[in-house]
Amino acid sequence: MLVPQNNIFVFANWKTKPATLAEAKKIIASYPKSTGRMELVAFPPFPFMGMVQEMYTPRRLVGAQNITELVPASSFVGGVTPSQLASMGMRYVIVGHSAVRAAGENDQDINTKIRALLENNMIPIVCIGEHARDESGEFFHDIEEQIQGTFDGLTKKDFESIIIAYEPLWAIGEEALRDAIAEEVEETVIFIKRSIGTLTGNQRIGRTTIVYGGSVSNGEQAQDLLNAGCRGVLLGRASLDPKQLGSIINGVKTYRNKK
Ligand code: PEP
Repeated sequence: MLVPQNNIFVFANWKTKPATLAEAKKIIASYPKSTGRMELVAFPPFPFMGMVQEMYTPRRLVGAQNITELVPASSFVGGVTPSQLASMGMRYVIVGHSAVRAAGENDQDINTKIRALLENNMIPIVCIGEHARDESGEFFHDIEEQIQGTFDGLTKKDFESIIIAYEPLWAIGEEALRDAIAEEVEETVIFIKRSIGTLTGNQRIGRTTIVYGGSVSNGEQAQDLLNAGCRGVLLGRASLDPKQLGSIINGVKTYRNKK
């Protein structure tokens, strides 16, 4: 499945929230319909997926937060496979989120998941990002290493079906040090595109799709990120806050109307 080229993405990762089905129904009922070239994709916890797909259509606008790494003939109890998700009409799956990496997932595991998703005609949203940012630019090595390990052996063609989520760890979640500024995001987006170009022998780096994640909470921020070369945003907390989500969507619409 090729990444839609003209769309702007708002990926709303609910992570482990909310606590109950009733609350999940309220959240998805508050989601505005995606319009035209903006795709607002909800990533609810697995137990709520069926319900969310019924209330929020089309089905491709519901994605999954992860899959299980299935070694051949695995019988990993409680696992979720790409084919199961694809058969539900899903298109997008997040892999390599920093929380999952922190729990022990390595670049090779993520590489295996990316390949499994591509084989099932799905679009992996692959999270990468430096642990800390330093003035001397050492953090670029951190990103470069992740790129080489995570995307090892993938081709220029594969990247037409992959979305990269640039998520600097220091800017994510309640422990975030501060928001990333647009200039920081812009230089890193260019760096990531160049690195993917080098990895795949592709001189034309324009097609790599990158979204940004890290405490995005309002429309102005969203517009700055789009102007910085991102094709959308990956949201955590704002996914569950109708006011913040509404502001971000309005920001995307304003950006799009100016284009
Ligand atoms: C995340 O955890 O990927 C994330 C972007 O979260 P938040 O928006 O809450 O920082």
